[in-house]
Amino acid sequence: MRNTRKAVRIDGYKGYGYRQRKEPKTVKAPVCPYCGRVSVLRPAEYVYGENTITEGSLLYVCSGYPGCGAYVGVHEGTKKPKGTLADSELRNKRIRAHRAIDRIVQAGCMSKSGVYIWLSGRLNLPYEETHIGYFSDYLCEETIRECEKVMENWNGNRKQCVA
Ligand SMILES: [Zn+2]
Repeated sequence: MRNTRKAVRIDGYKGYGYRQRKEPKTVKAPVCPYCGRVSVLRPAEYVYGENTITEGSLLYVCSGYPGCGAYVGVHEGTKKPKGTLADSELRNKRIRAHRAIDRIVQAGCMSKSGVYIWLSGRLNLPYEETHIGYFSDYLCEETIRECEKVMENWNGNRKQCVA
């Protein structure tokens, strides 16, 4: 008899859960900012072929590929894009911006979280929007420039990090 009562309660809970279901479970494929086509989730092999580094990794590739060469990586184990789709030039700049940041952290000048707080201030961006995966060509260039300035000061005066 107890079981019956429990079942009723669970049904009620289910109804409550249904109304609560507001968060989207599926991630929408991002639209290509270059040509306006929608991207498609593909295995990394689709672009890298035999040069794929991480087996099983995914990319959002512009449906105009290879005519349009834009794509972006996906956070491991999810369908969440790492940023906006980028062409080869922007991908290159984002890699260089990441490296510039890594150099500051590796030099011991700033911590990994500290460097992004500093960068958001330098670029006048909210901290939550300070992700290189979303940066434009311009913001990547600014990031590299700002990082180089810091490193020059750091190397010039090893004990003092002038940000
Ligand atoms: Zn495209």
